[in-house]
Amino acid sequence: MNSIKTTPITWIRNNQDILVKLIQDLVRIPSISGKEEEIQKFVYKKLTELDLSPEFIQPDIETLQKSDDYFETTSYTKFGYKNRPNVVGILKGTGKGRSLCLSGHIDVVSPEPVEQWNRDPWGGEEDGDFIYGRGAGDMKAGVASIILAVQALKETQTELNGDVLIETTIEEEDGGIGGSLYLRLTQPKADAAIIPEPGIPGSISINIASAGVMYFRVIVTGIPAHAATAHFGVNAIVKMVPLIEALKTLNIERQKKISYKYAEADPSMKGKATTLNIGVINSGDWPSTVPALCILECRIGFPPGETREMVINQIEKTILDAGNKDMWLKEHPPKVEWFGWKARPHEQNPEHPFVKLLDKNIKQIAGIEPVYGGGSAGWDGRFFVHHGTPVVAFGPSSENNHSIDERVSISSTLKTTEILISTIMDWCGVKLNK
Ligand SMILES: [Zn+2]
Repeated sequence: MNSIKTTPITWIRNNQDILVKLIQDLVRIPSISGKEEEIQKFVYKKLTELDLSPEFIQPDIETLQKSDDYFETTSYTKFGYKNRPNVVGILKGTGKGRSLCLSGHIDVVSPEPVEQWNRDPWGGEEDGDFIYGRGAGDMKAGVASIILAVQALKETQTELNGDVLIETTIEEEDGGIGGSLYLRLTQPKADAAIIPEPGIPGSISINIASAGVMYFRVIVTGIPAHAATAHFGVNAIVKMVPLIEALKTLNIERQKKISYKYAEADPSMKGKATTLNIGVINSGDWPSTVPALCILECRIGFPPGETREMVINQIEKTILDAGNKDMWLKEHPPKVEWFGWKARPHEQNPEHPFVKLLDKNIKQIAGIEPVYGGGSAGWDGRFFVHHGTPVVAFGPSSENNHSIDERVSISSTLKTTEILISTIMDWCGVKLNK
């Protein structure tokens, strides 16, 4: 390692306890999407202590609605955007270097069913190399590594040429609209970005792609009747069955046809680069009544290669064709509505100099070859790439994200922080004292 980097990296190695404490503090403040205010106040205070001029940025719905990437998130429907600030801060450089944005989402998914956990989901318990809790891996350890990387530079008086922009965002788990999208629309554009999201367990990964994700519902109407005279009615649940079958077949065909190497980098994802999930079905209210309305809700995820329009056309044609095979449905066509998630997929070119730089630092500091992955779920990174900033996800190794007994590796978070420090210094440039 070159000597200029030794000082801040040694500082973080000697101060692992500060890193552990910060992950624990973050895990102990519940921050399920929609309820991010308390933890954002904590982050704001932390950035104030580090003299990073933090600001609260509350999303403005009118600005968002003008974007083609806008959709109404579930947490917006439930809570609105009041008292749900993003936090941004800046480590100012001399102005002569490239800027870097370090971005992390602060929201987490619900820990339910809590009774299945063996640890307190909000306890931040430390055991061996792990810290347990909801969000420990996804992605409070990543947020801690951002803050500590900057703190290490500050504590060692390492001055940079380019600016480091720090941000903690809301509602990533719910689509990132009021979080990362809002900041891309309103904040200065960085020359590159890293989001320390958790990587593939047991390896170090650079995530360079995200999937397109859309929600749709299929509505079938029938005729209500008393069950004793069911032949006078048309059963909407029964009429939905061939449509579900058609969607299942479409899913199998798509999975056979569509492959995407980055989504399938994890061996358990082979052949599953795209997924159409039958998620919700609502119909009927009484065993003695023939149901006259059936509503099905689905999610389709698709890797880079298809556009939203292509997918929409394919789904609508599948429903139409399946409906045409049934007399009732032919005359009363099922309706398809698109709602909620409508994310475009994205891919970051792995040959970009910024990605190459991170790759080199991973090899140098961790001594291993990173695995390139991504593209099976929606992710905030798309907003950066669609707004012209190269971005990668690279973060600590964690297990059971979104599941029971989520935990993050402390040693891996420390390594992540070292690699962040090194990459910041290379990308932004270090001011050399005469
Ligand atoms: Zn995440």
